[in-house]
Amino acid sequence: MMQTFLKTDYTVRQVLEGFEWNEAEGKGLFGLNGKLTIQPEYQRNYIYSENKSEKEKAVINSLLNGYPLGLLYFNRLPDGRLEVLDGQQRITSIGRYLKRKFAYVDADKKEWYFDALSEERRNRILDAQLLIYECIGDEDDIKAWFKTINTNGEPLNDQEINNAIFSGPFVTLAKAEFSNSNNSNIQKWSHYMTGNVKRQEYLKVALNWVSKGNISHYMMEHRFDDNINELKTYFNTVIDWVTEMFYSVEKEMRSINWGQMYERFHSTPYDKKLLNEEVRQLYSDFFVKDKRGIYEYLLDGKKNRSLLEIRLFEEPTKRAKYEEQTKRAKERGVSNCPDCEKGHESTQTRIWKYSEMEADHVTAWSNDGSTDIKNCQMLCIHHNRLKGNK
Ligand SMILES: [Zn+2]
Repeated sequence: MMQTFLKTDYTVRQVLEGFEWNEAEGKGLFGLNGKLTIQPEYQRNYIYSENKSEKEKAVINSLLNGYPLGLLYFNRLPDGRLEVLDGQQRITSIGRYLKRKFAYVDADKKEWYFDALSEERRNRILDAQLLIYECIGDEDDIKAWFKTINTNGEPLNDQEINNAIFSGPFVTLAKAEFSNSNNSNIQKWSHYMTGNVKRQEYLKVALNWVSKGNISHYMMEHRFDDNINELKTYFNTVIDWVTEMFYSVEKEMRSINWGQMYERFHSTPYDKKLLNEEVRQLYSDFFVKDKRGIYEYLLDGKKNRSLLEIRLFEEPTKRAKYEEQTKRAKERGVSNCPDCEKGHESTQTRIWKYSEMEADHVTAWSNDGSTDIKNCQMLCIHHNRLKGNK
């Protein structure tokens, strides 16, 4: 059971006492005279990503007008120290204002730095009361609770929540490697994954690969490790593999689970020159609708054509072909299904209705057959299914 305590007697003055702003890291560090960690190591970066300055000013406007700032959530650690779980941005905004990092703009467009305000207004800010929930709980409780409170404001994503829950040396090291936008490898990695580095989405990919999709479990097991060797080695192995397999970088590669591809195919030998030639061909093939499927299709030995979502014949094409075939068949007194014509007595002269026929590639797509009318023929359903290729 998680215990929560609603505190209504904290003032801005107390919470922001000893506030430190780290210019280099762009984050607020401490409050409550050092007792409160505003952005614990495991928390996300300071992101009022869009309209940051507007939001900062809105916070000050609320304090000056006595509007509620909303609930803040602190996590009480066993040693009595506190960490901000939700509210970093609001607290940091107040702290930055007190430190003269920005000016509040009033209705007359006049700018007011904190120390230019009248004493009465300064005190209105400093004496404003903050509503704070302090909580003590285990991981499951905190996880459930995180999800609940983060429906307001800028929600934490899954990986940010996991980082909070499984905070410890492992997460700190993993973030230094995979969530650091100054890491010079990011450019290369960005060819094979999507997402925002700062929002922990590269870290999520790395963890997803090494854990075979079981991120929480993996983070729990490694929470107190003092290294990320396995995570890093596995990730680099996958990246090296895909880089060596495919010579050109295509945007569709970013939405492929390369960890899974690596697991399935890394011990299969390939003629890489041929493989890359086939990638190129399929990329230039108009009938391949899902380019993303090309990689798995080829790595898997071209077994599963549905990965490519081959375009089918369009309705007007089929209709025109039906009319043409049926007209000629009637003239010759044979079936309008070419296979029936060649087949058993019973259907040799049968004229099928349009609804009783299906379109077939004369030359199978897999043998370079195209999907225009020249390569279309209508077969009765029975014969088309018998042929089994589209
Ligand atoms: Zn037939």
